[in-house]
Amino acid sequence: MNQAHYSVVIVGAGPTGLILANFLGQYGIQTALIERNPSTVDEPRAVSIDDESLRTLQAIGLIDQVLPDTVQGYGVHYYSWTGELFARIEPTSTEYGFPKRNAFRQQVLVRQLRDGLQRFPQVTPLFEHELTRFTQDAQAVQLEVNHAGQRKTLSCDWLVACDGGRSPVREQLGIALTGSTYAEKWLIVDLLDRTSAFRHTRTYCDPARPAIRLPGPHGVVRYEFMLHEGEDPQQVLDEAQLRGWIAQRETSDAQLAITRKVVYTFHARVAERWREGRVFLAGDAAHLTPPFAGQGMNSGVRDAANLAWKLAAVVQGRSAAALLDSYQTERQPHARALIRMAERIGSFMQPKSKFAARLSQGALKLISLYPPARDYVLHLKFKPKPRFFEGFFVPAPASAPLPAGQLLPQPWVELPGCKRVRLDQVLGSGFAALRWADAPGPLGHSAGLDLRQVRVLRQSEDFLPARGSDPGVLVVRDCEGVLGALLDQAGADGVLLRPDRYVLAYLPRGAHQMPAALQALLTAFAGRAQ
Ligand SMILES: Cc1cc2nc3c(=O)[nH]c(=O)nc-3n(C[C@H](O)[C@H](O)[C@H](O)COP(=O)(O)OP(=O)(O)OC[C@H]3O[C@@H](n4cnc5c(N)ncnc54)[C@H](O)[C@@H]3O)c2cc1C
Repeated sequence: MNQAHYSVVIVGAGPTGLILANFLGQYGIQTALIERNPSTVDEPRAVSIDDESLRTLQAIGLIDQVLPDTVQGYGVHYYSWTGELFARIEPTSTEYGFPKRNAFRQQVLVRQLRDGLQRFPQVTPLFEHELTRFTQDAQAVQLEVNHAGQRKTLSCDWLVACDGGRSPVREQLGIALTGSTYAEKWLIVDLLDRTSAFRHTRTYCDPARPAIRLPGPHGVVRYEFMLHEGEDPQQVLDEAQLRGWIAQRETSDAQLAITRKVVYTFHARVAERWREGRVFLAGDAAHLTPPFAGQGMNSGVRDAANLAWKLAAVVQGRSAAALLDSYQTERQPHARALIRMAERIGSFMQPKSKFAARLSQGALKLISLYPPARDYVLHLKFKPKPRFFEGFFVPAPASAPLPAGQLLPQPWVELPGCKRVRLDQVLGSGFAALRWADAPGPLGHSAGLDLRQVRVLRQSEDFLPARGSDPGVLVVRDCEGVLGALLDQAGADGVLLRPDRYVLAYLPRGAHQMPAALQALLTAFAGRAQ
């Protein structure tokens, strides 16, 4: 019998692997998704999903399924060691098309992502299949898989390990993790049917017992309590005791039904290499983020969105395999920056003494008297921007308000007939060019870059019958003025976008052709997959 061969095999049906599989299905790539469990994991882990991840779910066509099970736009309230509300994070902007903090349930999302795969005959989900061993050479990766006690073999061009924090693939490759493990353990308790309707997270920065209360969709609520050194993780699971801790924070939660209680150790670690030949690490396999900022899964979603279109371009022979090296170059610094942010939030939440609490909380209260500083915290402006410093893009002019290599905002745009849609809805799933409606001439295609061209009317302009006449080019109106502000400040007529909606290059005023620097970049990456 012939051994099955796939262009891509993904190991692990957690959020990272499932999102990658949905993207590859959308691109028509022959993919197998191997998961050792009979189905997706039912463990309620992540509870906070950000705007960038929701945009990614929009990109894989599942946003309408996900939003009904999401509470959009919730904040964090910080309470001092004396119980005083001393800081708030309540961002109101929807720069990328969605609110910045949203409550969801990871176990519900992964089921929706698994169901989403049914749309793609090219994707073969293999549950109850455990990868036990692999080898690779210049041509392919050979895999050994255990299924119901039987050994099976298969092969692929590219293997992506989305196999979680303990990543057996990373282990087999001998790739080290750098960073630290938190000495403090945390007790996580999930409860049902809360009666308090308060929607925001409450964080109690109390050295006596740092704690977090996170309400979620469908009436669920989570408590997280820090354990002190020497506390026995088994003893803290005692129900009477933990209900007592809950009662101290919100009496109406104290007798709710518990669905799960577990003690976790958190890590802040990054894999040294994210690629070894034909094998990639993504999600928790590549980086472990302490959950104080709710970013571990969100970072994995960014990995999947970054790697998916690059793998598709290489598999389909539109790009050389060198493009895949930009995955780690682009993603690793950002993942590290988010880990640092989580560590800073964590140390703020876990003051070691009343003195330390007084000092850090007093300092934050003081700087909050200065409105720009208060806004910086309130609107989550301290979160690292989704931006690359090196990688597959052409650096922007210094005047550009949004550097190339940064995620383009997603405003609403207007279609003829006054219908408003989120920008990405008109951009398709590949490369796109957004140019002013009156920018000169058509833009020549170049070096395998198959561009969807979209013309943009300024906020002050109207649709005129002649303008929408080119059947190959869609026209939209910049009804919020967001694109106008960006292009005008950059002195550009347009912007080229990568499939993941990061800025590839600006098109200078009056340009008919792709900028020379972009031509050079595309030529360097054009060619057949190796
Ligand atoms: C208490 C807690 C709270 C959190 N809160 C948040 C939050 O609010 N927001 C956030 O963004 N993140 C949060 N996180 C982090 C988030 O849960 C993880 O980052 C996320 O699950 C990682 O997804 P993944 O797909 O990379 O890996 P995983 O979800 O770990 O999935 C890996 C999969 O690989 C499978 N697998 C492993 N080895 C093999 C093999 N050899 N063969 C086949 N299958 C294999 C496993 O069975 C598993 O299904 C939290 C984590 C915890 C523990």
